[in-house]
Amino acid sequence: VRAVNNAACTLTNMVSVEVFQLFRSLVFESIGQSLGLNGEVVDQVEYAAGVAIGRALAQNGTVRGESLDLVMHGLAEFYARAGLGSMYHSLDGAGMLTVGLYECTGCMGMELVHHPVCHLEAGIIRGVVSEFTGHEFSIREVNCIGGLGDSACVFELTP
Ligand SMILES: [Zn+2]
Repeated sequence: VRAVNNAACTLTNMVSVEVFQLFRSLVFESIGQSLGLNGEVVDQVEYAAGVAIGRALAQNGTVRGESLDLVMHGLAEFYARAGLGSMYHSLDGAGMLTVGLYECTGCMGMELVHHPVCHLEAGIIRGVVSEFTGHEFSIREVNCIGGLGDSACVFELTP
Protein backbone atom coordinates (compact mmCIF):
# COMPACT_ATOMS: atom_id res chain seq x y z
CA VAL A 1 0.00 0.00 0.00
CA ARG A 2 1.36 3.38 -1.02
CA ALA A 3 1.95 5.82 1.84
CA VAL A 4 -0.53 8.69 1.82
CA ASN A 5 -0.04 12.05 3.49
CA ASN A 6 -3.41 12.43 5.22
CA ALA A 7 -2.61 15.99 6.27
CA ALA A 8 -2.79 17.03 2.62
CA CYS A 9 -6.13 15.34 2.01
CA THR A 10 -9.03 17.77 2.36
CA LEU A 11 -11.66 15.08 1.63
CA THR A 12 -11.08 13.06 4.82
CA ASN A 13 -14.36 12.31 6.65
CA MET A 14 -16.45 13.62 3.78
CA VAL A 15 -17.82 10.43 2.23
CA SER A 16 -21.59 10.40 2.69
CA VAL A 17 -23.41 7.40 4.14
CA GLU A 18 -25.36 7.06 0.87
CA VAL A 19 -22.18 6.85 -1.22
CA PHE A 20 -20.62 4.44 1.26
CA GLN A 21 -23.69 2.17 1.11
CA LEU A 22 -23.84 2.37 -2.68
CA PHE A 23 -20.16 1.51 -3.14
CA ARG A 24 -20.36 -1.26 -0.63
CA SER A 25 -23.42 -2.93 -2.15
CA LEU A 26 -22.05 -2.55 -5.69
CA VAL A 27 -18.70 -4.10 -4.72
CA PHE A 28 -20.35 -7.23 -3.34
CA GLU A 29 -23.01 -7.40 -6.09
CA SER A 30 -20.27 -7.15 -8.73
CA ILE A 31 -18.25 -9.91 -7.10
CA GLY A 32 -21.39 -12.06 -7.02
CA GLN A 33 -22.30 -11.33 -10.65
CA SER A 34 -18.82 -11.85 -12.04
CA LEU A 35 -18.53 -15.19 -10.24
CA GLY A 36 -22.16 -16.22 -10.90
CA LEU A 37 -22.94 -16.55 -7.17
CA ASN A 38 -26.42 -16.53 -5.63
CA GLY A 39 -27.40 -14.01 -2.95
CA GLU A 40 -26.73 -16.33 -0.04
CA VAL A 41 -23.18 -17.00 -1.20
CA VAL A 42 -22.62 -13.26 -1.71
CA ASP A 43 -23.69 -12.77 1.94
CA GLN A 44 -21.02 -15.30 2.93
CA VAL A 45 -18.42 -13.43 0.85
CA GLU A 46 -19.40 -10.22 2.66
CA TYR A 47 -19.13 -12.00 6.02
CA ALA A 48 -15.71 -13.49 5.13
CA ALA A 49 -14.48 -10.03 4.06
CA GLY A 50 -15.64 -8.70 7.44
CA VAL A 51 -13.79 -11.45 9.33
CA ALA A 52 -10.60 -10.59 7.42
CA ILE A 53 -11.04 -6.87 8.23
CA GLY A 54 -11.70 -7.63 11.91
CA ARG A 55 -8.66 -9.88 12.19
CA ALA A 56 -6.51 -7.22 10.49
CA LEU A 57 -7.78 -4.49 12.88
CA ALA A 58 -6.71 -6.65 15.84
CA GLN A 59 -3.41 -7.76 14.25
CA ASN A 60 -2.22 -4.28 13.29
CA GLY A 61 -3.13 -2.83 16.68
CA THR A 62 -5.89 -0.50 15.46
CA VAL A 63 -8.12 -2.28 17.98
CA ARG A 64 -6.35 -3.49 21.10
CA GLY A 65 -6.73 -3.99 24.84
CA GLU A 66 -5.73 -6.17 27.77
CA SER A 67 -9.12 -7.85 28.03
CA LEU A 68 -12.02 -8.65 25.70
CA ASP A 69 -13.97 -5.85 27.40
CA LEU A 70 -11.24 -3.31 26.55
CA VAL A 71 -10.85 -4.69 23.03
CA MET A 72 -14.58 -4.16 22.47
CA HIS A 73 -14.25 -0.60 23.80
CA GLY A 74 -11.42 -0.17 21.28
CA LEU A 75 -13.62 -1.43 18.46
CA ALA A 76 -16.39 0.98 19.53
CA GLU A 77 -13.86 3.84 19.47
CA PHE A 78 -12.73 2.80 16.00
CA TYR A 79 -16.36 2.73 14.79
CA ALA A 80 -17.01 6.17 16.29
CA ARG A 81 -13.81 7.64 14.80
CA ALA A 82 -14.55 6.17 11.38
CA GLY A 83 -18.17 7.36 11.53
CA LEU A 84 -19.44 3.81 11.05
CA GLY A 85 -21.90 3.72 13.94
CA SER A 86 -22.31 3.91 17.69
CA MET A 87 -21.34 0.59 19.31
CA TYR A 88 -21.87 -0.83 22.79
CA HIS A 89 -21.39 -4.31 24.23
CA SER A 90 -22.12 -6.49 27.24
CA LEU A 91 -20.48 -9.70 28.43
CA ASP A 92 -22.39 -12.19 30.56
CA GLY A 93 -21.01 -14.78 32.98
CA ALA A 94 -21.49 -17.63 30.52
CA GLY A 95 -19.13 -15.99 28.02
CA MET A 96 -21.86 -14.72 25.71
CA LEU A 97 -21.01 -11.36 24.16
CA THR A 98 -23.78 -9.07 22.93
CA VAL A 99 -22.84 -6.19 20.64
CA GLY A 100 -25.24 -3.43 19.65
CA LEU A 101 -24.75 -0.94 16.87
CA TYR A 102 -26.85 2.24 16.67
CA GLU A 103 -26.79 4.25 13.44
CA CYS A 104 -25.23 1.32 11.58
CA THR A 105 -23.97 2.75 8.30
CA GLY A 106 -24.24 -0.71 6.76
CA CYS A 107 -28.03 -0.78 6.75
CA MET A 108 -29.48 2.50 8.05
CA GLY A 109 -32.22 3.85 5.76
CA MET A 110 -32.51 0.69 3.68
CA GLU A 111 -35.81 -0.67 2.46
CA LEU A 112 -36.96 -3.41 4.89
CA VAL A 113 -36.19 -6.92 3.66
CA HIS A 114 -37.37 -8.75 6.83
CA HIS A 115 -34.07 -10.47 7.56
CA PRO A 116 -30.78 -9.21 9.03
CA VAL A 117 -28.38 -7.82 6.44
CA CYS A 118 -25.21 -6.74 8.28
CA HIS A 119 -22.93 -9.59 7.26
CA LEU A 120 -19.87 -7.35 6.95
CA GLU A 121 -20.37 -5.95 10.49
CA ALA A 122 -20.97 -9.45 11.89
CA GLY A 123 -17.73 -10.57 10.25
CA ILE A 124 -15.74 -7.60 11.57
CA ILE A 125 -16.92 -8.17 15.16
CA ARG A 126 -16.34 -11.92 14.93
CA GLY A 127 -12.87 -11.35 13.36
CA VAL A 128 -11.75 -8.99 16.14
CA VAL A 129 -13.05 -11.28 18.89
CA SER A 130 -11.60 -14.47 17.38
CA GLU A 131 -8.23 -12.85 16.75
CA PHE A 132 -8.00 -11.50 20.30
CA THR A 133 -9.24 -14.62 22.13
CA GLY A 134 -7.72 -17.23 19.80
CA HIS A 135 -11.11 -19.01 19.85
CA GLU A 136 -13.74 -19.41 17.19
CA PHE A 137 -17.11 -17.82 17.94
CA SER A 138 -20.46 -18.13 16.26
CA ILE A 139 -22.28 -14.88 15.66
CA ARG A 140 -25.91 -14.14 14.91
CA GLU A 141 -27.51 -10.79 14.10
CA VAL A 142 -30.75 -10.83 16.12
CA ASN A 143 -31.88 -7.23 15.53
CA CYS A 144 -31.23 -5.13 12.42
CA ILE A 145 -32.08 -1.49 11.73
CA GLY A 146 -32.32 -1.63 7.94
CA GLY A 147 -33.23 -5.28 7.52
CA LEU A 148 -35.85 -5.66 10.28
CA GLY A 149 -36.77 -2.10 11.28
CA ASP A 150 -35.20 -2.32 14.77
CA SER A 151 -33.66 0.65 16.61
CA ALA A 152 -30.19 -0.96 16.65
CA CYS A 153 -28.38 -3.84 15.01
CA VAL A 154 -27.65 -6.43 17.72
CA PHE A 155 -25.22 -9.31 17.40
CA GLU A 156 -24.88 -12.27 19.77
CA LEU A 157 -21.59 -14.15 19.95
CA THR A 158 -21.16 -17.50 21.64
CA PRO A 159 -17.83 -19.32 22.02
ZN1 LIG B 1 -28.11 -4.63 10.72
